[in-house]
Amino acid sequence: MGDLSGRTALVTGASRGIGRAIAERLAADGARVAVHYGGNEAAAKETVAAIGEERAFAVRADLSTPDAVDTLFARLDEEFDGLDILVNNAAIATSSDFENTTSEEFERIFTVNVQAPFFITQRALSRLRDGGRIVNISSGVTRIAMPEIITYSMTKGALDTFSRTLAQQLGPRGITVNTVAPGIIDTDVNASWLRGNPEAEAAAAARAALGRVGRPEDVADVVAFIASDDARWITADWIDVTGGSDL
Ligand code: NDP
Repeated sequence: MGDLSGRTALVTGASRGIGRAIAERLAADGARVAVHYGGNEAAAKETVAAIGEERAFAVRADLSTPDAVDTLFARLDEEFDGLDILVNNAAIATSSDFENTTSEEFERIFTVNVQAPFFITQRALSRLRDGGRIVNISSGVTRIAMPEIITYSMTKGALDTFSRTLAQQLGPRGITVNTVAPGIIDTDVNASWLRGNPEAEAAAAARAALGRVGRPEDVADVVAFIASDDARWITADWIDVTGGSDL
């Protein structure tokens, strides 16, 4: 476990799922964490309560709206005098295939999954201290082809390129930029087809060499390592956290 005492962290989409596990883990390592969420205030409050109010606070900003970045940083600046760790985790998925994707759906998913992390990172740069960390949560889908989620996969592909490119620009400041790519993780986004469906769970587990569905903590522990001093020489990397999966 790394020592993040005295560090500050912003985790987007930290009210639930992987983001919550990341926020909890970074706080357990000593960081003070901004628990960002989009609308589920009860879930955000639960995350803050689980961490403890001395180490966490909630900040609401719907990333599909134009004023999201202003709203987010107005609150952040009240609490933090600088930022050490930025985790761009919040994202939405779509269930439409290529033929059925509307321009509205396309625009919404690119706004939340690509435009928001781009401009959150841009705004964060003046607050990020030298030696800081940026971690972008992508997905194993960018290294395979899943036509049924083509638009979602494209947003994660854009994020991969963003990470790799930004790492070159921020290297001179000692800021690392890495991508963490999970496989199938048991979160709300997969609840409708995974939970309470043993056949679907077995099929999902069989896709991973390690033979089970991933848990949010499996991803959070890797993000915590990347955020730690021990990972100072890792940047521009794409880290596969799929349990050896074909996804
Ligand atoms: P969840 O659906 O469980 O949680 C999504 C989080 O993002 C919530 O905190 C939610 O806030 C927030 N969010 C969603 N939409 C918005 C919005 N418009 N504005 C602000 N916040 C928003 O997601 P997961 O934990 O499953 O996924 C986390 C990350 O991991 C995502 O980037 C996802 O693409 C990636 N990933 C997930 C995989 C999986 O199998 N679960 C696999 C590969 C990658 P609120 O609670 O307020 O709605």
